[in-house]
Amino acid sequence: MKNKHLIFKKIINKETSTKIVYQDEIVTAFEDISPKAPIHILIIPNTFIKTSNDINEKNKNIFAHMFYIAVKVAKDKKISEDGYKIIINCNKNGGQEINYLHMHLVGGEKLKALY
Ligand code: AMP
Repeated sequence: MKNKHLIFKKIINKETSTKIVYQDEIVTAFEDISPKAPIHILIIPNTFIKTSNDINEKNKNIFAHMFYIAVKVAKDKKISEDGYKIIINCNKNGGQEINYLHMHLVGGEKLKALY
């Protein structure tokens, strides 16, 4: 499917069966459909931002809120003390498959180092 990012809009609008773990007027956090760890949550802005390259002076507060909520969800899921990773993939080399800015919150087990 070419417009894969449209699925994220549907998730925000609760038009799918995806489990939303947190939502407010700025962001939505939901379970990844193909979890890479026991906890794998995606955090997205409710207004469309394509990639991390599109964070700017005007929308940087949205990004800060995404980060804040990622940490809040980590605490709610009780993985904050043991630790977790927050990952953003950008474009082709970064492995971004869905062109809708999202943070991956992964944890619940000892994660492999990326470097
Ligand atoms: P990325 O490679 O950073 O673009 O990550 C895209 C992520 O979106 C992957 O981890 C997918 O498993 C996840 N994903 C794709 N479609 C859905 C969906 N319908 N609901 C939840 N997560 C999804």
